[in-house]
Amino acid sequence: MKTNRIKILSPGTVSKIAAGEVIDRPSSVLKELLENSLDADAKTINIDFSASGKELIRVNDDGSGVLADDIELSIKRHSTSKISDFSDLDKLNTFGFRGEALYSIAAVSKLTIKSLANKSNLAREIYAEGGKILKNSPAGHSQGTTVEVKDLFYNLPARKKFLKTDATERSRIIKTFEEYALSNTDVGFYIRSEGSEIYSLPAPKGDERKKLHSRIKSVYGEEISDNLNYVSDRFMDVKGFIGSINRFSTSKTIQFFFVNKRPVTSLVLVQALYRAMSSYLDRNSRAVSFIHFDLKPDTFDINIHPQKREIRFKDEGLIFSLVSRLVAQAMGAGFSAEEEKNTAVYYIRDKERPVERSLEIDSSIQPHSQHKAQDEMFKPFYRFLGQISQSYLLFETEKSLLVLDQHAAAERVLFEKYLGELDSKPQVQEFIVPVTVDITASQMENLMSNGNWLKNVGFEIERFGSNTISVVGTPVVFGFDDNQIKEFIFSLSQELSDAKEESETIRRQRLARLACKKSVKARRDITREEAVALLKNLHNCKHPNICPHGRPISFELGKSEISKKLGRGKVL
Ligand code: ADP
Ligand code: MG
Repeated sequence: MKTNRIKILSPGTVSKIAAGEVIDRPSSVLKELLENSLDADAKTINIDFSASGKELIRVNDDGSGVLADDIELSIKRHSTSKISDFSDLDKLNTFGFRGEALYSIAAVSKLTIKSLANKSNLAREIYAEGGKILKNSPAGHSQGTTVEVKDLFYNLPARKKFLKTDATERSRIIKTFEEYALSNTDVGFYIRSEGSEIYSLPAPKGDERKKLHSRIKSVYGEEISDNLNYVSDRFMDVKGFIGSINRFSTSKTIQFFFVNKRPVTSLVLVQALYRAMSSYLDRNSRAVSFIHFDLKPDTFDINIHPQKREIRFKDEGLIFSLVSRLVAQAMGAGFSAEEEKNTAVYYIRDKERPVERSLEIDSSIQPHSQHKAQDEMFKPFYRFLGQISQSYLLFETEKSLLVLDQHAAAERVLFEKYLGELDSKPQVQEFIVPVTVDITASQMENLMSNGNWLKNVGFEIERFGSNTISVVGTPVVFGFDDNQIKEFIFSLSQELSDAKEESETIRRQRLARLACKKSVKARRDITREEAVALLKNLHNCKHPNICPHGRPISFELGKSEISKKLGRGKVL
């Protein structure tokens, strides 16, 4: 038997192997280039490819561009403009900025990058083969970047052999394109193969809902898009479309999840959707979903394996209940009994396992023995019991009956959400058809003299005749419909006269308070789901005990008090 000597691989070989792991096929090149264009805030992205991406993939954008002095750096390993120090490591975990993509692509292809960062700069172009820069020269290029990847894996035959048929690689490229087009509705996406157009998707107009729907329609066609219902959530920043199709009409799974505008995969989401939809679907149908989450980086982790984007949520229970809430909304129905049982209890410490015990008041289990195991069973929890007068929510806690004013609680939650949004610069929702409101001349005076301030807090209004105001945009966070906008602007124009002398904080609070008033309905039925979510959200508020108008939000009736009233000596 011959024993081979151990050798150390040359740096060139190592880098090719590593690159082959990041970039395993043409579609992963496209994915990385699209991510970069989107990171650069491109508004239009043009893609050309030929021979299923093996000969050429070219991505052109009108984004922020690369500075002439940085262009060589962009293909060096671990070079990124997106994180700068350790405090940004969260961003690395969340978005996977590792400065590896261009480096890896360059290592296994013949790469040209042309870019113009801004007018004062000069456009520059580099050309590299196998990562080696062979040319760096002035170039002609408009604002933005063009990255051209030719002869992918020309120097890595093993990887090239591993590629699937042309048809498969081509369809992967197109699928990647579709995912990004579906999740970035503010961007125009265009793709051609061998010079002929596959998709031409200008950025759709309208509100968020219209934009999402129109993208789905232009990618999937009417059969799918006509059978979808819009869903959104009051407590989490989630929106999208859910529906179903007959299984025989397609063999593909049409279930998309997007987090912060990037396509993600998640077993939990797939399971949650499956479970929530199962009671609505017959054997021959399956769920269709396009769900967009806007999440804070500290609520999830992304597996930054280069080719995947598997997301893990910190609070999976929340995701399950959210998805069933969305599905119930889409299907226009209430909850199944099983769903109710699972969602009616809210444990304060999310990470702990739900307690397996009957929580009925007449339960024979009692907390007398101080046994540790039993102690465990009395973790703080809130169990939703029901609603009275369409206004008050009842919860059992471990020591009391909690009575919550639903309206006041919802106002508090929204109030803090609005304030939070107003503190940063609010995102404005612009209307294609402005909403007009008839007001008096004095109200007009109030509004126009506060025009700048209103603009700062997200309201775009214009005079439209002497007694009519035209509302062109409102803060997205308010989520008002036309009538709510009318009422809101009307009340605001009355209140503003008193507001002139107030401090900025007080003025904002006044605005947020008014917005809550318009958006929280007085009496309404509530699902268990919503009740539990409301309580949870309230617990996350800075001031969970008083409503924005100063009234108390809840009170508790101790179990000992209840026992006493009923003439019992000890607490059950
Ligand atoms: P990362 O995206 O993790 O930063 P990449 O290797 O994908 O790493 O890109 C390296 C750097 O090149 C980016 O941080 C960015 O500064 C620059 N870059 C790449 N593509 C573009 C683009 N289309 N527009 C502007 N800058 C780009
Ligand atoms: Mg990148």
